[in-house]
Amino acid sequence: MRIQKLTERTTIFTIFEACEGFDLHLQLIEGKHRNYLIDTGLGDKSLEPIFEHLKDSTKELIVINTHHHYDHIWGNLCFKNHTIIGHRSILEAIKADWQRATTQFIEWKQGNIEMVLPNLVFDERMMYVDDGIEIFYAPGHAGCDIAIYDAVDRTLNVGDNIGDTPEELVPGLVCDEEIYKASLALYETYDAKYVISGHNHIMDKSVFQEIRDCLSK
Ligand SMILES: [Zn+2]
Repeated sequence: MRIQKLTERTTIFTIFEACEGFDLHLQLIEGKHRNYLIDTGLGDKSLEPIFEHLKDSTKELIVINTHHHYDHIWGNLCFKNHTIIGHRSILEAIKADWQRATTQFIEWKQGNIEMVLPNLVFDERMMYVDDGIEIFYAPGHAGCDIAIYDAVDRTLNVGDNIGDTPEELVPGLVCDEEIYKASLALYETYDAKYVISGHNHIMDKSVFQEIRDCLSK
């Protein structure tokens, strides 16, 4: 695990070769009023360094699932008493995929896992205004994909809507390319300094044009 303080408010917890050989980044934003954990990793054990990091914090912890894939939700069991946010469509997606994912990918689990669904869902966007946190729907890779923008530190987390390696910027898509391109255009309306994704390097917003160039080839 690497723990990297990226900005004043954001710490990135990276689990190396976490799932199918890819690194996995979990973003923690320590806002003025609340803390926000983006994705929950591979089980309760994968979250221990985050709990250690937060042990002296008295602020409420809000949990966000960027999409329904196993490496982003298996740690949800640790947050049964917390607000867990996802897109409305993530609820059915988690239920529909649970059996397959816990069969196909079980070797990647870290500690205990359990199906715990988000308990706060939205359609287009929602905001924690007092913390400068905006969460919005931007489909592409999984269909229920959401992104999180921190307007204070200008970080944008796009989940797995960027491919898993520097050589492969375009992710696997379940949506039409045109829908994904609309999500890229939406990302570009935010003044992001750091673009964070589930598995790739941390980039800047020029990556969205690079992806568009790859798509048009
Ligand atoms: Zn992933």
